[in-house]
Amino acid sequence: MEHHNNKMIVLGLDGATWRLIQPWAESNQLPNFKKLMDNGSWGNLKSTYPPITPPAWTSMTTGKNPAKHGIFGFLKLENEKFRLYQSKDKKEPEIWDYLQNKKSIVINLPVSYPPKKINGIMVSGMYTPSKESNFAHPSEIKDELLDEFPDYRFELSWGEYTGNKTRFLDELYKMTDNRMKLFNHLFDKKEWDLMFYVFIGTDRIQHIYWDQDELLKYYKYIDTFLGEVVEKIERQAEKINLFIVSDHGFNQINKTVDINKLLYAHKFLVLKKDQSLNKKIVFKIGINKSNAIEFIKKMGLLKLYKRLPNKVNDFISKQIPGETNIVTDISKENSRAYSNGFGTVFFTSNDGNDEIINKIQNLKDPENGRNVIKEIHIKRDLFSGRFIDEAPDAVLIPCEGYKLSKNSSDEVISNETFEKADHEIDGILLAYGPDIKCSNFKTASIYDIAPTILHLFGSPIPDDMDGRVLKEIFKETSEHSIRNEKYQESFNIQKLKKQVQMVKKVNNI
Ligand SMILES: [Zn+2]
Repeated sequence: MEHHNNKMIVLGLDGATWRLIQPWAESNQLPNFKKLMDNGSWGNLKSTYPPITPPAWTSMTTGKNPAKHGIFGFLKLENEKFRLYQSKDKKEPEIWDYLQNKKSIVINLPVSYPPKKINGIMVSGMYTPSKESNFAHPSEIKDELLDEFPDYRFELSWGEYTGNKTRFLDELYKMTDNRMKLFNHLFDKKEWDLMFYVFIGTDRIQHIYWDQDELLKYYKYIDTFLGEVVEKIERQAEKINLFIVSDHGFNQINKTVDINKLLYAHKFLVLKKDQSLNKKIVFKIGINKSNAIEFIKKMGLLKLYKRLPNKVNDFISKQIPGETNIVTDISKENSRAYSNGFGTVFFTSNDGNDEIINKIQNLKDPENGRNVIKEIHIKRDLFSGRFIDEAPDAVLIPCEGYKLSKNSSDEVISNETFEKADHEIDGILLAYGPDIKCSNFKTASIYDIAPTILHLFGSPIPDDMDGRVLKEIFKETSEHSIRNEKYQESFNIQKLKKQVQMVKKVNNI
């Protein structure tokens, strides 16, 4: 069977959640989301553990868990120093690498800088250093983009706007508007079969303002764009299926839990001896929170989102009181466990860890006597692959309302939160189109997106992908529902590189 008339659009809304979309769609405030939900398939999309942006998007585009693709968080620990993850750290092929006879357009995918040379167009996203950098493939796209949209931006350094809501919202809408215009430009003017297009603004506004009015306003703006996209799709002669996805969900937080402080209190964690007295005192007796917050405001974004050069990062982590840096602060030789944030826990030996898990599990909020940790997942249940040694030994999921941090304060649990809301596991998948049936599926995994897209293109699925084809979302009459999945042995990188070179030669790129 031929599938050459199949096209596909994936719209990524970073951090989008049914918690917000579903009630607003049901009350008709987001009419286009409602139309798609009434006529498409939708449900939760389970993220990676922990549910953070770089590993989650990478699992979505590779169909594999972090121990296979190698992206575990925001920063990579290399030679006892942290640096930002880059596209070269992704050790597995992505959807478009398998679809070599198809044209793909990939825009603003987190951790795609520097852009890979794909058959199509790639414009990098989060972590792109600047507009001067080579952020586009092929390179002439850079000039075309900047000519058409001189104010185009990849990201919003939201910490810069602390205390300046008007400016933040102004820049957020400007960034999103340019991104939407670029979508229309590419849709109309370029040849493509797969469009994978990410909007980061949903995540940024949710972190800072969990304010229902502001959020609804922004989602309405997205909803209007969605309506235009659907209209465009339905005007085309070809069959185009649409997925709307998020890399993780979001929920309100009102307390912070410092796992390192908990480990320290139980003597599982030991600080380095050569640590400055000042900082040690801070860790022991806690920081003056209002001072710390003031300090952080003054420093801008740095602390919350470290997309800065290493030198700056090192500087900051040394300066911020209470920020635990696992390299400079913690004596790994003398500690039994430590956290690198986001609910990760690393053990230093294989013995006696049940005792540590037990203490974490039994952590109660003294204010209400309730448990703080909802789930503890251990390494072998979450990860498998050649980078397993870089994976955390356990990942904690907090109960609703708590954020897990590695920032020490004077108590394990504190009422201070720098952000209003934080990531949670359940993201969204909303599928709509000629092959998609009307249904509410139970749960899909972020690993299922890549195999499902490959199946829609009639392309074989590497047998080491961790996800499956979501056949339950296809119409019974659709050939995708009838056709069996085709699996094949995983591509070897060398073989793949050769194939890419051949396609390039054939297509003269
Ligand atoms: Zn995200």
